Amino acid sequence: MVLDSLIDDLKGLCAASPDRRTGDNTVYDMADIGLAAFATFFMQSPSFLAQQTALARGRGTSNCQTLFQMARIPTDNHIRALLDPVPPQQLFPMFSRSLAALVAGGGLAPFQRLGGHVLIALDGTEYFCSQKLSCPNCSERKRNSGKIEHFHQMVSAALVAPGHDRALPLEPEFISPQDGAQKQDCEARATARWLAAHGPQYAHLKPIYLGDDLASRQPTCDAVRAIGAHFLFTAKPASHKTLYDWLAGAEVPAFEQKIKQGARFVTHRYRWLEGVPLRDGKDALLVNWLEIEIVDPIGKVTYRNSFVTDLPVNQGNVAELAACGRSRWKIENETFNTLKTKGYHLEHNFGHGREHLSALLATMNLIAFAMHTVADLVDAAWTAARTAVGTRKRFFEELRVITTYLVFPTWSLLVETLTAGKPPPAVLSG
Ligand SMILES: [Zn+2]
Repeated sequence: MVLDSLIDDLKGLCAASPDRRTGDNTVYDMADIGLAAFATFFMQSPSFLAQQTALARGRGTSNCQTLFQMARIPTDNHIRALLDPVPPQQLFPMFSRSLAALVAGGGLAPFQRLGGHVLIALDGTEYFCSQKLSCPNCSERKRNSGKIEHFHQMVSAALVAPGHDRALPLEPEFISPQDGAQKQDCEARATARWLAAHGPQYAHLKPIYLGDDLASRQPTCDAVRAIGAHFLFTAKPASHKTLYDWLAGAEVPAFEQKIKQGARFVTHRYRWLEGVPLRDGKDALLVNWLEIEIVDPIGKVTYRNSFVTDLPVNQGNVAELAACGRSRWKIENETFNTLKTKGYHLEHNFGHGREHLSALLATMNLIAFAMHTVADLVDAAWTAARTAVGTRKRFFEELRVITTYLVFPTWSLLVETLTAGKPPPAVLSG
């Protein structure tokens, strides 16, 4: 299964993590430490390690050894202390390896749009917030109540596509505190760092970068163009006065489509114009603008959004461009919302750390999410089990329950058990 080779890759990266210990104080190796934390997130089970420790006591082995390739199960205290010095970048190669597994399994095609481009959505998010815990890398803000809140943010990236309910996370870029800088500046700078650091390795996929209204400013557009990629960013009237003044004085082409929505028809109305200035001034970048409005049967506008892009816009592609631009929300909905509310336990009880722990655990969560997505899209045995069990929530519940009592020699026997609803003899006799 695709998971076997990805977990093997992860083990190699964990084993090569910096290890601050000296002498013979090394009961656990770094591979066990990293894989133990990762397994908690992958299984979406805060009690996974405790349960596997209990299982190993009776059986001499557990799913940590069989499924996650660990030699021993470390304690939470060891994990916390030994992972804190590990920079999250140590595990970043897992993102391109997950993508490579997706491509090798034939899972890229549903993500390809507009003639062979992929869409990479970039978005800032907060992944930690506390009034109690903090570390030297925390940002701070004062609430109205007067209390100080500590938080961490990152710019996250994900492959998304319209009409596709999966998102594949790529490397995050962490936003560190910068005195006196505005949210907008921090996020824009982190986005530019992301593009420079990770953009080149995805260039062969011909990416179009999606971003919200904070992205549709000239520095971010320039940063995308500097790596030879394309952009399709939301551009709101309130933050693009020059552009909208220009549109007000121009003849703007329009095009309408009737779309069946349930039992009724709605109208999708498009407008676009090429070569409009993104901002005031002589050095303003000229961009192509487009807008979509959805109008209900009684003529009321129920949705409106507008974008700027460096791609040509015409009647033939304006509808697909708008659909692609709108798929940006999937990074919030399919990625962040899932990570925050659907069981990924973004911080768990490993704590916050003094150096990298918080960022490293967030990265492990993104990797777990990426590996679930790849398995969902290209692994037939995994997908059969997902389908047999039903909802995502139920699937992870079943995974937690059966691994509490049974040791599965392989991932394939585990998913086979979920698919069939009963364990094969090889598991029961093990
Ligand atoms: Zn912190």
